[in-house]
Amino acid sequence: MVAVEAPAKVNLTLTVTGRRADGYHWIESLMQTVDLVDRVVLVRTPSEAGVRCVGNGVPVGDGNLACRAVRALQEAVPPPAGEWEGVTIRIRKRIPVAGGLAGGSANAAAALIGANALWGLGIGRKELARIGAQVGADVPFCLYGGTAVAQGIGDVLEPVPPAPPLAGVILNPGFPVSTARVYQLYDEWRLPLGEEGRARAMAEAVAAHDVRAVAQLLQNDLEAVTVRLHPEVAALRELVLSAGALGAVMCGSGPSVFGLAENPEHGEHLARRLAGRVPFAVACRFVSHGARITGFAQGPGGEGGTIVCADR
Ligand code: ATP
Repeated sequence: MVAVEAPAKVNLTLTVTGRRADGYHWIESLMQTVDLVDRVVLVRTPSEAGVRCVGNGVPVGDGNLACRAVRALQEAVPPPAGEWEGVTIRIRKRIPVAGGLAGGSANAAAALIGANALWGLGIGRKELARIGAQVGADVPFCLYGGTAVAQGIGDVLEPVPPAPPLAGVILNPGFPVSTARVYQLYDEWRLPLGEEGRARAMAEAVAAHDVRAVAQLLQNDLEAVTVRLHPEVAALRELVLSAGALGAVMCGSGPSVFGLAENPEHGEHLARRLAGRVPFAVACRFVSHGARITGFAQGPGGEGGTIVCADR
């Protein structure tokens, strides 16, 4: 049995820099993992072959990115003991689904790390990232985590050295937004493509722990689409700014919004002020890691096994 935590990501900048013939877009983004996490537990289920996913509010079976990731892993490497044994992946969701926070990709990254450990495969992170990229463009980032300038379709990563963590609050209006639809409308509405450079400027501001510069540089090209579809997103932005956030930006394709705080205490204060006024408001801090193992139990696994958790 292996327990893995899967941190959400926020985009401090997101610039759409080009369009590909296959419908994907080139982007440049400063991505950051935060301490809003899902818990992913992999349990051996020798009686049932195959990969099974269960959890609150997530698709079961192959519709689940965690399932797909483990299947991709099984296709990429030979089974350690002749054939693959069954595995159940239990997901305890805290990250809002289809919220622009890469929750599904984070679960996929966690499942890859968990399966690698469960079966003692010894696969390096670079190879896991290559396998994960087949499942989703954000999976490589969710494996590494921390702060990174992302290019390509979000899968080409340049890490930024860890700095003292910044903090804020994440708000979600309680409904999902389809990433594919937002990019489709970005094209249909002929919204302009942007220049590269902002993510690097943001990386410098984060590395320097310059909260004012970070606040000024926050920007997301996809906001123009999502706000038009869902004016609630603009309202969330205004709400967090009027509560005292230094700046605010939509995460990914939305609808979640990140509000930047002066420090962790200010982030907690903002979350308390906004709780009850929006469906989801949690304080968050930047973290310098991606999906990581928090508990491991040897033996046959199953419901009776014990997981020793390294934190919380
Ligand atoms: P995207 O990577 O598309 O920008 P997002 O961060 O906006 O995603 P996710 O929470 O990753 O949102 O969900 C995107 C889609 O993936 C949803 O339609 C959801 O049903 C599906 N999905 C599959 N597996 C998972 C999972 N383990 N957790 C959350 N969503 C999942």
